[in-house]
Amino acid sequence: MHPDATFDDAPKSDMASEAQMAQLKATFEQLPNDIPLYLFIAKGHEDVFTHANRQVIRAFRQLSNKINLREYDLDHELAKKWNVTSSNTLLIAPERYSIRWLGAPMGEEARTFLEILILVGLGKSNLSDQSINVIKKIDSPRNIKVFVSPTCPYCPQEAVNAVKAAVEMPEMISLEIIDIQCQPELANQYGAQSVPQAFANDILIGQGAQTEEVFILSLKTLEPQTIFIPDSDAELVETDLLIIGGGPSGLTAGIYSVRSGLRTAVVEREALGGQVATTPIVENYPGFTSVGGKTLVDIMVSHALQYVQIFQGESVLNIKQGKIFEVTTSRRIFKSKSILLATGATHRKLNVPGEKRLAGRGVSYCSTCDGPLFKGKKVVMVGGGNSAVTEALHLFHMGVDVSLIHRRDRLRAQEFLAGQLKQNGIPVLWNTEVKEIRGKERVEEILVINNETNKTDQLATDGVFIAIGYTPAVELAEKLGLKINQDGYVDHDGKHRTSIPGVYSAGDVEGGYKQIVTASGQGAEAAMTLFEDLIDPYWMKK
Ligand code: NAP
Repeated sequence: MHPDATFDDAPKSDMASEAQMAQLKATFEQLPNDIPLYLFIAKGHEDVFTHANRQVIRAFRQLSNKINLREYDLDHELAKKWNVTSSNTLLIAPERYSIRWLGAPMGEEARTFLEILILVGLGKSNLSDQSINVIKKIDSPRNIKVFVSPTCPYCPQEAVNAVKAAVEMPEMISLEIIDIQCQPELANQYGAQSVPQAFANDILIGQGAQTEEVFILSLKTLEPQTIFIPDSDAELVETDLLIIGGGPSGLTAGIYSVRSGLRTAVVEREALGGQVATTPIVENYPGFTSVGGKTLVDIMVSHALQYVQIFQGESVLNIKQGKIFEVTTSRRIFKSKSILLATGATHRKLNVPGEKRLAGRGVSYCSTCDGPLFKGKKVVMVGGGNSAVTEALHLFHMGVDVSLIHRRDRLRAQEFLAGQLKQNGIPVLWNTEVKEIRGKERVEEILVINNETNKTDQLATDGVFIAIGYTPAVELAEKLGLKINQDGYVDHDGKHRTSIPGVYSAGDVEGGYKQIVTASGQGAEAAMTLFEDLIDPYWMKK
């Protein structure tokens, strides 16, 4: 396995997870340092976070006796010494590092916590050489705050970036990982109404998951960066196939391709699983009557990892064409005989005034990530397809006061989902379009118009969730000069060959039905076409 390739702790099968536990135990065994943890709680005030902390830490302690937990009241002198003022605060090896968790590492955050334990036990940040070159130039203190939620699959990537920084330069960099459910006031104070969001010295440096190098550069410059150009002597990886995109199509293609004997790697800049990772519930993927989107992704990723190397958190910056493609990512260079574009699609925007300015301030495209912050509050969900209805139901069950706003008089969503909306009494504003999202620091109200009566109205709301479909992610395809069809998708020959020999496509980037099962099927097909072509290149026969 490549040292930077993804390690995933999701359960595979019982046998596989036993093997994983053994592997984790062996990893902890080799760590040179103890990992002392100090949990501070308000006297006599045990809550869900206290129990979660104890439970999670107990589970991790089964892996190693190097992990020690001590519990103190907030009025203990150690709390004063380390300036701990709120419950629950978990300090990690505070004599060596300034890393604290406000809340508890529940759900998705257990992945971040595992990474913290390993890096602290190792006493090393595991930052890439590129990142170290940048971080070493930081010459004044940085206090990082990363706002996260346990249901956010993007959060661990951003939080782990920050952990690595705090481990690399403990004298200069301090870190607070803040669970928005435990600290809603603090999240409000920072206007952090979407997760992840990272601040350094109280300046916003990242909204959403950044690649490691982009995060470190943002930390250095104290402003959000979007691109990182690696040094020219970046590491080189040679493959037969480089898959760009780690959603269902890319992961499936990876499995098929390696099983055909091709040297294959997957690069994914954000969370693995694509849109599925943030889908609350999937009920139409064969083999699973009902499964959380993220759980399905974990199972897929675990399966794929048995075959293919996955480089997560790396974005592709450039593709040089030739007999062999040279692909530069934010961390290394791949030389590959072929490329599969499985870049998926990105959330469609409403494109109304206020949407961009208030993104992360009440405007959200991810109910699983940001929903918890709106518990007991009033929000609208815009859209009439399967996503909008699934997500409205998810918010409703979470205790959010949600109404659906749809521009037509009937839903595009499947009957089954539409029925659930009705059963649960979720109000729907028909024939209604959002014209503007308003608010000073955060969303306060929306301006809507009824497109039948032309009557406008102002509705007070705390949040605007948007699920109005997806736009294919064709930037790389366009950069490469691939033919794009009139609907904006990558054009292909029906067997996933694009207009450039050696470049293939699969999944939502090439349109079609956009179901998880069809994306996986397209990934499998593309890998099989590709394998046949590599043995017997079709472009040589032309
Ligand atoms: P979708 O099916 O394309 O539906 C988009 C919805 O947003 C439509 O109702 C559309 O209105 C509305 N819309 C589009 N642009 C708008 C705008 N500018 N302003 C206001 N409303 C706008 O998208 P989706 O729901 O995200 O689903 C995407 C794909 O994933 C679909 O193929 C879907 O079947 C699949 N999916 C499946 C499941 C599932 O099976 N459980 C769950 C989620 C997603 P109109 O109706 O007027 O066009």
